[in-house]
Amino acid sequence: MRRIPLLLVPLACAACTGPAVEPAPAPGEAAVSLAPSASTEPVASGSLVNAAFWVDPAAPEDALILGAAGISGVEMYAPDGRRVGAFAGVEAGFVAVVPHPAGDAPLVVVYDRTDAALKAYRLERAALTLTPVMPEPLALEDELTGLCHHRSRFSGADYLYAVTDRGMILHYELYARDGGVGGELLRTIPVGKGAGFCDVDAGDGTLYVSDESIGIWRLGAEPESDTTREPVALAAPWGELSDEVKGIAVYRAAGTSYLVVADIGKDRLVVLDLSAPTIVGQARIEGLEEAEGVAVAGALGPGYPAGLLAIADEDESAGSNLELIDWRSFAGALGLEAGGAPLPAPTPAAVRPMLETEVAANWGDAADDPAIWVNPADPSRSLVIGTDKQLGLYVFDLEGRTVQTLPDGRMNNVDLRDGFPLGGEEVTLVAASNRSDDSIAVYRIEPAAGRLVDAAAGVLPTGFTDPYGLCLYRSARSGELYVFVSEGGNGTFRQWRLYDDGEGRVAAEQVREFAVGSQAEGCVADDDTGHLYVNEEDVGLWKYSAEPDGGDARTLIDATGEGRLEADVEGVALWTAPDGGGWLVVSNQGADNYVLYERQGDNAYAGTFHIVANAAEGIDGASETDGLDVTSAPLGERFPAGLLVVQDGRNIAPEERQNFKYVSWADVARALDLQPRPTDR
Ligand code: CA
Ligand code: CA
Ligand code: CA
Ligand code: CA
Ligand code: CA
Ligand code: CA
Repeated sequence: MRRIPLLLVPLACAACTGPAVEPAPAPGEAAVSLAPSASTEPVASGSLVNAAFWVDPAAPEDALILGAAGISGVEMYAPDGRRVGAFAGVEAGFVAVVPHPAGDAPLVVVYDRTDAALKAYRLERAALTLTPVMPEPLALEDELTGLCHHRSRFSGADYLYAVTDRGMILHYELYARDGGVGGELLRTIPVGKGAGFCDVDAGDGTLYVSDESIGIWRLGAEPESDTTREPVALAAPWGELSDEVKGIAVYRAAGTSYLVVADIGKDRLVVLDLSAPTIVGQARIEGLEEAEGVAVAGALGPGYPAGLLAIADEDESAGSNLELIDWRSFAGALGLEAGGAPLPAPTPAAVRPMLETEVAANWGDAADDPAIWVNPADPSRSLVIGTDKQLGLYVFDLEGRTVQTLPDGRMNNVDLRDGFPLGGEEVTLVAASNRSDDSIAVYRIEPAAGRLVDAAAGVLPTGFTDPYGLCLYRSARSGELYVFVSEGGNGTFRQWRLYDDGEGRVAAEQVREFAVGSQAEGCVADDDTGHLYVNEEDVGLWKYSAEPDGGDARTLIDATGEGRLEADVEGVALWTAPDGGGWLVVSNQGADNYVLYERQGDNAYAGTFHIVANAAEGIDGASETDGLDVTSAPLGERFPAGLLVVQDGRNIAPEERQNFKYVSWADVARALDLQPRPTDR
């Protein structure tokens, strides 16, 4: 997410007084006075807290406005303000509208105060009825002070954000279940007491939350995003908003997004340009006594070609109603853009993990890098070795269960190769960078037992103060096995030849050193082509020769900045086809996604994908990934085209210590429409 400095909104205090001025005042001038386009009849009892639009893309002029009206239930209005229906089965504290996950009728989610639960209903548009579709409503321990919905461009998933009176955001994913709808709590985000109304800018996936007395916060709406919040506009005495801020709603214009804020302490609506962000207008709405929730829709046919604002008015004397304001007149009076922007196209390349491993022993940044061992005798008994940089190594089975823990030091990266001649046998060697004694740890796999045993000829020193990245290379030219280790901080790489010391232990002899330039960790060697791929974290993906006489010569394959990558660029792994085809997979940590390049030729870009939550299985997506590994070997029904293992920096749903996610390569191939070559199999 973008970082913005804490800012103080420039708005002169003199602007708060005086009569309404000509339309389109410059920012900082007095509020424009506007009459609503329409006002609904006051509700019979209770009061309207918020509203939400249902817009049928096929007939936007037939949009429906649903109002949460407390003991009056859910009220339904046409865009011209006529009351067209009602649903009395709930004490509606808040309402949100969700296009149905299965794509047919929309869902209406209601916070029912009678039993403090979120309930989902199917909206029958013609009959204007609500039918319950959630067998298990989402029970809440605290009162809600806000509710909003977001459909992710990345996952296509529907998220609900329920803000509680204890200052927490409960982030749920809704999913189809047995013909109905279920909800999975993905994460709980503390934002502070006073937090209330929320809305999401679906364009960039940013969640906005108003805090009655502090102002407006924003944070990432995607479940795998950083939970750090930052201020967008502050209340007095720090900023220009009053100390009573209520509803907010995002309007997506062509050039920017606006946030409409009910600033009731100053009896006005304020509009923030979110690209700055700065206050660009303010309005006073006639007949609006005490605003609560604010909702906004884009174009609604010829009647409201630029959209419509709906503001819940708690007015105690005249009765609670909705004030409806044509966005054209609102924008014209305030000098805002009047053309709404369509939502950006969804990003279809998203895959869901099949399973996740057991968690690391320690909290914080612990899990780092995996290596996959394919058991040639029985692929279903293959293993995944994962580093814990606070503890050592874990060995997981294909179910993600820990079958061995090796508390041998702060292991950072791990890699392996089959077919190493040791003590008269061919063994699989596992090497790891050990930051406890600055050495190269070496193990061999006992295939029958599925265990790692130490195989190093004593401590194999790196000579580095912080051994960091590590990968192995077996030269097709010489048949030798080499290990590369980088130094943390400066990106110096050293290469050692590994050999049997004559007593069945593995010794190392340094054969090369080269400087990448700055911190570099992720690396992988292609044994068939002799290339070494290295990620320089702030810079991009490099290709070197993996041979000991390879020197400093290198090619930049992709870069941060002008390229497709976003720092830090972390793990890299290779999916290989027998004919020489295949893909390089890079952890593009700064963007929480994964980038593919062709293995052959100039390593052409081949696609980008996200790993999103598998909510039905209760598995979160992957983000902030450090290391990853991939194999093209079929590993049973779940992984018929191979297995991708990624470290997950944020293990959520529930909030837990870090772990690794297992993804079926067949899902990646499908998501990116990777075309297998005829000779692949
Ligand atoms: Ca009113
Ligand atoms: Ca990390
Ligand atoms: Ca690795
Ligand atoms: Ca790193
Ligand atoms: Ca995660
Ligand atoms: Ca999890």
